[in-house]
Amino acid sequence: MKLSGLHILLTYQCTRACEHCFVWGSPRQRGVFGLEQIEQVLEQAKEAGVEWVYFEGGEPFIYYNVLIKGVQRAKEMGFAVGYRIERLLGRFRCRSCRASTTL
Ligand code: SF4
Repeated sequence: MKLSGLHILLTYQCTRACEHCFVWGSPRQRGVFGLEQIEQVLEQAKEAGVEWVYFEGGEPFIYYNVLIKGVQRAKEMGFAVGYRIERLLGRFRCRSCRASTTL
């Protein structure tokens, strides 16, 4: 079976703490991928033939600098790239649960 996509859970930290969250995201969660770890994961993904990468969480935009650098690096390496949330008029919405928040 070919591995075509990869979801990088950049952090479990989130501005919300939804009861239904399957990664137990919350403001109390700590930890975030480092750029070196992201680079290693992307290199392994490339070797495995992965075509697209999604950056998710938790709320990946809490670590905006890491997110942007990770997205840039993934695009440089030729991946199709996406991230889990969308910005609507200054509000951010979780794609999985449709919860929205203002940062
Ligand atoms: S907004 Fe999304 S990531 Fe955050 S706690 Fe809720 S379900 Fe989890």
